[in-house]
Amino acid sequence: MSHLHITTSLLQHRRLSAQLGQAVWLKMENCQPSGSFKLRGIGLMCQRAAERGARQFVCPSGGNAGFAAAVAGVALGIPTTILVPQTTHESVRVAIRAIGATLVVEGCVWDEANQAALRLCEQPGAVYIPPFDHPDIWDGNATLIDEVAGRHDFDVVLCSVGGGGLLSGVVLGLQRNGLAHIPVIAAETEGAASYDAAIRAGGPVSLPAITSIASSLGARRVADHAFALSREHDIRPVVVTDAQAVQSCLRLADEMRVLVEPACGATLAVAEQQLPVLAQFKRPLIVVCGGIGVDLDKLAVWKNQFHLT
Ligand SMILES: *Cc1c(COP(=O)(O)O)cnc(C)c1O
Repeated sequence: MSHLHITTSLLQHRRLSAQLGQAVWLKMENCQPSGSFKLRGIGLMCQRAAERGARQFVCPSGGNAGFAAAVAGVALGIPTTILVPQTTHESVRVAIRAIGATLVVEGCVWDEANQAALRLCEQPGAVYIPPFDHPDIWDGNATLIDEVAGRHDFDVVLCSVGGGGLLSGVVLGLQRNGLAHIPVIAAETEGAASYDAAIRAGGPVSLPAITSIASSLGARRVADHAFALSREHDIRPVVVTDAQAVQSCLRLADEMRVLVEPACGATLAVAEQQLPVLAQFKRPLIVVCGGIGVDLDKLAVWKNQFHLT
């Protein structure tokens, strides 16, 4: 069976290219049927589980992972239950139900929804779909590099880091296409910088709290695998402010007519702010990871909150 994700466009960002004197290219993962890159990894994991006889998918996520699992489950014709905490926004609940998945609201925080998901998975045939920490997810996310490798020349990849599933996929994609020498710039926001914290501490640590508005980057601790990759690949963590991430979302909307979450704006901000980490490169490839947790109203609220013009 063919995969559930689509091959996405690669677009040059003209203004940034001119401003930086670099060929800045955008891999438009916001165009995936799930609105983010997550359908690549979660879609592949669901597909493999279906081939092994899965009868139900269970995913504890009120974010893009849950939505991608819902899209994948419906496409594969397998009953899918998404468990979310009470804090999950009504628009996300509506989107998950509208796709045709079962939505269960469970507990006040993610951990309680996760506990309920683990209990559901004790039933035979039920498969737990995690948001980022599984080899099938890294394998699927790596396809975004497969699509550009050998066709397009780039000398660095920029991507956002939450729990590290996207980063792990990007590194795997580079390695399996003979591009292991290409560095990755791993972007996070202040208050969600669990990868940067892990690099500084010499191993994954748990942040006391997530204080960034970039909720899709809000894993308090990065996956061990994503950290371990820093020992074998040139990965450069960089941290931007929420204001810079939102500013980049606003500019992308104005200039490319594309809406993305601040979680994605964090990566764009590295180029937008001309951060020194990017200076030595000539042909950056930016993963526009997307996300459904954004609309014109939310963007207007953030714009106001950070006094942006
Ligand atoms: C999931 C997600 C991330 C972070 O990905 P990880 O695999 O958790 O590191 C970043 N941006 C968006 C839009 C996401 O949905």
